[in-house]
Amino acid sequence: MSYDLIVIGSGPGGYVAAIRASQLGMKVAIVERSELGGICLNWGCIPTKALLKSAQVFEYLKHAADYGIKVNGGEADFAAVVKRSRGVADGMSKGVAFLMKKNKIEIIKGTGKLKAGKKVSVTEEGKTTDYEAKNIIVAVGARSRELPTLKIDGKKIIGYREAMVLPSIPKSMVVIGSGAIGSEFAYFYATMGTKVTIVEMLSNIVPVEDEETSKQLAKSFGKIGIDIKTEASVESVDTKGTGCKVKIKDKTGESTIDCDIVLSAVGIAANLENIGLEELGVITDKGKIKVNGFYQTNIPGIHAIGDCVGGQALAHVASAEGIICVEKMAGQNPEPLNYNNIPGCTYCQPEIASVGYTEKGAKDAGYTLKIGKFPFSASGKASAAGAKDGFVKLIFDAKYGELLGAHMIGANVTEMIAEIVVARKLETTGHEMIKAVHPHPTMSEAIMEAAAAAYGEVIHL
Ligand SMILES: Cc1cc2nc3c(=O)[nH]c(=O)nc-3n(C[C@H](O)[C@H](O)[C@H](O)COP(=O)(O)OP(=O)(O)OC[C@H]3O[C@@H](n4cnc5c(N)ncnc54)[C@H](O)[C@@H]3O)c2cc1C
Repeated sequence: MSYDLIVIGSGPGGYVAAIRASQLGMKVAIVERSELGGICLNWGCIPTKALLKSAQVFEYLKHAADYGIKVNGGEADFAAVVKRSRGVADGMSKGVAFLMKKNKIEIIKGTGKLKAGKKVSVTEEGKTTDYEAKNIIVAVGARSRELPTLKIDGKKIIGYREAMVLPSIPKSMVVIGSGAIGSEFAYFYATMGTKVTIVEMLSNIVPVEDEETSKQLAKSFGKIGIDIKTEASVESVDTKGTGCKVKIKDKTGESTIDCDIVLSAVGIAANLENIGLEELGVITDKGKIKVNGFYQTNIPGIHAIGDCVGGQALAHVASAEGIICVEKMAGQNPEPLNYNNIPGCTYCQPEIASVGYTEKGAKDAGYTLKIGKFPFSASGKASAAGAKDGFVKLIFDAKYGELLGAHMIGANVTEMIAEIVVARKLETTGHEMIKAVHPHPTMSEAIMEAAAAAYGEVIHL
């Protein structure tokens, strides 16, 4: 009943923090009200990537003739696609259970709530038990955000959870919001045969990305028949009758889109309700728990990490925060996280991967820039793979040669971005990247060539 650390929530923030704490010799318990592994493993990163893999296989089949392969027929068995995704998620969740056991972390099933005196009360099936700890980490994550004009009913207006387990392929879908989640589902359903329309409030899809990336994705999405409405807001959704009538307003005025189903992908809201924050006086800010650089709240011994605090809502961010939080707790001297060197990836096709400043962001920050861009249309590996859409764009500070940002769109770029993250961590310059010999033929040569392009040394353009 008494621990060095209790973690509330077992997502990639919570379970990673628990393991690191155990490695550092702490007696740890983790409280989880649902599946081990949180949103990421059960309803986020992993099951979506399983769905997207099926989409990719289907796309390959549809275009097999381009590679000289004859395929007779070929159709998506949607129920089997969903089943595979759920199976992958289930396997990952079981993997977390194994890791908890291996690291001697006690799993407490139930809903946790902070109590005064560094206690956590856990309620399961009407029974409440109190546990106490020297330190507590709140890692309760987040859920789909709802707009007042777009209440999720789980049937015709759905969030990401329902989108992962629909009983059949809808004929038509309107996706509201074109961040990573909206774009991945838009691509998945378009590939499965759904007529998809994206409605985005800002002027570009994937709006956090560099503008050139957004434009390339819009072009690629156009090729697979996705309709895109930008600078458009949803006024109302009428769900009476068989389908939905989505009333939108854009530059051209008001119009109505008919569809079977609406997917709301307008961001997330942290799970802050009923976890005892108000009772203890834990300070929140704009719907997130306020923490310092080591994830300590204003109440000694209470920490918070992951989607329930500020910063990018990404699994790798939650995990990194958990590790830093616990190392500080154990008396170590961890380096605070550099939120400007966090890679962000979107796993539609073409994939998107970026880190650091966008071109506009770097200009707004006052840098003078040297920019190098290398299109995959000039890459031998991309030609061989039949994946010529996209590019690598690198942004350097003209004065000192610092690599300020990288923006990639194309096949496999989500695997390529790690090189840039390491380069930036090691404060590499463009000259070093040009001289670091890349293997041929690979998509990654485009990184070396983009660096060379910035300094007038590009070879294959
Ligand atoms: C569709 C989708 C796709 C995504 N794809 C990616 C991706 O490709 N890459 C990426 O980096 N990120 C992705 N994300 C984001 C990623 O899932 C989150 O950033 C990550 O899961 C956050 O981890 P966390 O530990 O903060 O919280 P979560 O993973 O949300 O885990 C929180 C856990 O706390 C539990 N909990 C909440 N309240 C309580 C309570 N009171 N008591 C007990 N337990 C509680 C919940 O049941 C949950 O298991 C995606 C998200 C979605 C929705």
